[in-house]
Amino acid sequence: MRKTHSFTCINCPLSCSLELVEEDGEILEVKGNDCEIGRRYAEEEFRDPRRMVTTTVKVRNGILPLLPVVSTKPIPKPLVKEAVRSLAGVVLEAPVEDGQVIVADILNTGADIVASRRLDRLHSAGND
Ligand code: SF4
Repeated sequence: MRKTHSFTCINCPLSCSLELVEEDGEILEVKGNDCEIGRRYAEEEFRDPRRMVTTTVKVRNGILPLLPVVSTKPIPKPLVKEAVRSLAGVVLEAPVEDGQVIVADILNTGADIVASRRLDRLHSAGND
């Protein structure tokens, strides 16, 4: 059965409205794109949509209670919620270095979750 899927291209400020027409999973046509990047974007969004993971994890004895973290590359979109849920259970001990790997190969995606910033230890937490 022929279906049309709509996307908004996020690759430049023009934000073209894209329409991808497919039949039984086979892409027939992409419309609305002003350039080749948009066509490729629509095809990727249809075949294998991926997103970066961005969230925070808890930190004990740090100058802040939460540390922003990010994935080293986009992961399959259907796994993003599960990744965020699993990171909600992580508790780190300060200090944490910028770029420190928090979870390697999250959900076997090949992406690591790394710290987006350095987070120092609270002085009152001692130097043990
Ligand atoms: S299709 Fe091309 S011109 Fe349109 S928003 Fe995407 S990148 Fe920009």
